[in-house]
Amino acid sequence: MIYLDSAATSLLKPQCVGEAMAAAMGRCASPGRGSHESARLAAEVCWDCRCAAAELFHVASEEQVVFTMNATHAINLAIHSLVGPGDRVVISGWEHNAVVRPLHARGAVIDVAAAPLFDREGTLEAFARRLSGARAAVCTHVSNVFGFILPIYDIARLCKAAGVPLIVDAAQSAGVLPLDFQRLDCAFAAMPGHKGLMGPQGTGLLLCHGETKPLLFGGSGSLSRERDMPAFLPDRLEAGTQNVPGIAGLLEGIRYVQSTGVEQIERCERSQLRLFAAELGDSVGQLMLSPDPSLQSGVLSLLPRDIDCEEAAELLGQGGVAVRAGLHCAPLAHESAGTLRSGTVRFSFSPRLRRDDVLLGAKYTKEILGK
Ligand code: PMP
Repeated sequence: MIYLDSAATSLLKPQCVGEAMAAAMGRCASPGRGSHESARLAAEVCWDCRCAAAELFHVASEEQVVFTMNATHAINLAIHSLVGPGDRVVISGWEHNAVVRPLHARGAVIDVAAAPLFDREGTLEAFARRLSGARAAVCTHVSNVFGFILPIYDIARLCKAAGVPLIVDAAQSAGVLPLDFQRLDCAFAAMPGHKGLMGPQGTGLLLCHGETKPLLFGGSGSLSRERDMPAFLPDRLEAGTQNVPGIAGLLEGIRYVQSTGVEQIERCERSQLRLFAAELGDSVGQLMLSPDPSLQSGVLSLLPRDIDCEEAAELLGQGGVAVRAGLHCAPLAHESAGTLRSGTVRFSFSPRLRRDDVLLGAKYTKEILGK
């Protein structure tokens, strides 16, 4: 199988990730819940992972790195911390349901800063027009459908000037593009551990800067006499026993990203996308490519010719090419791009793919959909 679905989860993990998980299953107990060797080892793994994440994302202190079970959990925590019923929240036109649904559930007024696909200036203008008086802003760094890289540092600057706290959804950029939390100077950045960071499913991170509100209450291994959750991070947001095997795997994933180099990963995914697109040309339908390659990461949508998207993905899957089709949990992004009715077929790339895999993926796609 040629796995071109890394935007969903990175299946092609470095071997050390699984090995670290298996080792943690045998050796690590509950971190912060005991002074014996195995509890200490577990605490060490968690601390090392916080340190590695803080280093990779330039977070001032390790305590600001909170473990979550995925990006959705991290985004819910951030939204719960900042947004109440009736609050107006500005979001980009490329947000995932992991942003839209929690805002809707919270009773927020969702104000979409709509702009055309791959239009950075238009996006900035749309945010600038809406920020005054907003309670918060949420913006994805990279669209999970089209790979559009949003001008997140400029949006953060606009938010800062307007006094509006910003939540960055880094689900598609963590481990794929450089992300400097200090330079962003935003309230939160949420990310999965299981995509670009190469960790296992069931892991995620929330980088925090400012006021936080817990969503879950329970044991934290600290201040046990108090009925309230501790006021300090990460304990405030980490109730219950941690996913230590998952965190052990995530630590190895982050180390892989660090040793490969995030700039190298970015270049690699971008060149795979361009190679794949050049091989396909317009043979099977319309590729949604940015005219400026620097505005698109390793995610590419196709509007196939003469065939429904789901059916196309089904045929590709049977032919050994793993892709995702439909709305990709992001109806708003499809609405923004005018593809809500059809959906798209999404191809996504990975530093774990070889050039030959990319070429073979393009060849099979042409053969299967070009008939
Ligand atoms: N935001 C974006 C942009 C995503 O692509 C995804 C994953 N598809 C999420 C949020 C949710 O991530 P998770 O599945 O880890 O909760």
